[in-house]
Amino acid sequence: MDRQDFTHTIRTQMFVDGRFCASGNGRTFAVFNPATGTEIAQVPDAGDADIDAAVTAARRAFEADTWRRMPPAERERLLLKLADLVERNGDELAALETLNQGKLLGFSKMLEVGGSVQWLRYMAGWATKIEGSTLDLSLAFPPGVRYNASTRRVPAGVVAAIVPWNFPLLMAVWKIAPALACGCTVVLKPAEETPLTAIRLAELAHEAGFPPGVLNVVTGQGETAGAALVRHAGVDKVTFTGSTEVGRIIGKQCANDLKRVSLELGGKSPVIVLDDCDPQRAIEGAAGAIFFNHGQVCTAGSRLYVPRARFDEIVEGIAQVARNTVLGSGFDAATQMGPLVSARHRAKVASMIAQGRAEGGEIVAGGGDGNRAGYFVEPTVIANATNKPLTVVREEVFGPVLVAMPYDDVDEAIAAANASEYGLGASVWTNQLDRALRVVDAVQAGTVWVNTHNMVDPALPFGGFKASGIGREHGRAIIDAYTETKSVCIAY
Ligand code: NAP
Ligand code: MG
Repeated sequence: MDRQDFTHTIRTQMFVDGRFCASGNGRTFAVFNPATGTEIAQVPDAGDADIDAAVTAARRAFEADTWRRMPPAERERLLLKLADLVERNGDELAALETLNQGKLLGFSKMLEVGGSVQWLRYMAGWATKIEGSTLDLSLAFPPGVRYNASTRRVPAGVVAAIVPWNFPLLMAVWKIAPALACGCTVVLKPAEETPLTAIRLAELAHEAGFPPGVLNVVTGQGETAGAALVRHAGVDKVTFTGSTEVGRIIGKQCANDLKRVSLELGGKSPVIVLDDCDPQRAIEGAAGAIFFNHGQVCTAGSRLYVPRARFDEIVEGIAQVARNTVLGSGFDAATQMGPLVSARHRAKVASMIAQGRAEGGEIVAGGGDGNRAGYFVEPTVIANATNKPLTVVREEVFGPVLVAMPYDDVDEAIAAANASEYGLGASVWTNQLDRALRVVDAVQAGTVWVNTHNMVDPALPFGGFKASGIGREHGRAIIDAYTETKSVCIAY
């Protein structure tokens, strides 16, 4: 499917309480095709009243017997139905994502649509497997009385889910699938750059049979709509994926309100190559770790540590991959890397490359914009061979920019890898299991990969150490994030 096939069907309104709607004040903002810089659509710019309407709908749906008291198997069935609908409408959703986000159509199909279907099906299964425990208490009063005690997990309530623009559909599903499996209701705010697939997802959930108000999608700006959603008194739990900077603001508000909060934040993930590695595998792996999704990945392998003796060989190998990468529209089958998401983001990435150069980094590959109209940045490799780390070694770029650093012994590489405020992901590349496990032990990161990078699965917990976040998504861990424990104590 290409653009012409579906643009007339693009939904451009919010979806609240089972209906499409505009913002109360009629205000809208533009969303763009990042490959060309042209406007695709205008979507509602939600204000306080719109957020209030969405939270009120979610609260009403949460309190209603139709949702909270629905048998878990019925919730499971609805989620499976939604997975089927996402799959059936996969070509349209993938094309919409490529049009609005810029990523390669193949990745939109495989990851945004395929991943969403996989997560929805996995989380559907949890609906029927949420359980508590039975406890034997030691209470001795009054004499002769015994106690039967148990715990049960109850839904956390109304969830505010706020997501970024790098994997718009998949990030939305990472939030809504477990929240709905647990019996919560949701108000989802997609990123202002990429709201289109989230709106369509809400419509498909309606078609699947989710009651009105159970899943609402509001479009708007972070500082207004997002902030209003986070501080709304009708919200019980906030789940946020985005930058550490905004995560701190949201965390403070939630602490003040004593709301439950999960934060998936930024990263500066190290890729540590050991001297026994298979060089070709390490080169391809390190290139994929940083250039996948144009570097717009929270776990992007953006810091590369290479033994000094192999530095030139490995860095030149990755630079070759960068130089040979074909930039273009995500709809073009020949394209290997699409644009960044927005003009603003391209300017930020370009300024960080310029800063790296100004501070003495050597640009080994890329550094330019490929002379194109859209928001392109060439895949870039910067060598930082001096002892003084560049700013770009510390700060998240969130673009296709790798900084490579030589090391003399592994402990030095691990210390450098850990000298970061972030701790989201890391990878180590070696053929020796004992050496791999030593690095796994020592690296401070929520996920450590060995001879691979960026691999995620619905069964595998995911989240950050340090400033990369609080809490874990996926697997059994996610059930705790969307439920509260209720203890029951019965005297007999
Ligand atoms: P962002 O600026 O933090 O925005 C994320 C979301 O928060 C957007 O929907 C944004 O709305 C909203 N927002 C902004 N300010 C807000 C506020 N004051 N109150 C409430 N909501 C607010 O991040 P981004 O640039 O979109 O995404 C890139 C970042 O996400 C990177 O740092 C990346 O590492 C991180 N990320 C983390 C993970 C993970 O799982 N750990 C996964 C993917 C991405 P607007 O769109 O209107 O600004
Ligand atoms: Mg933003």
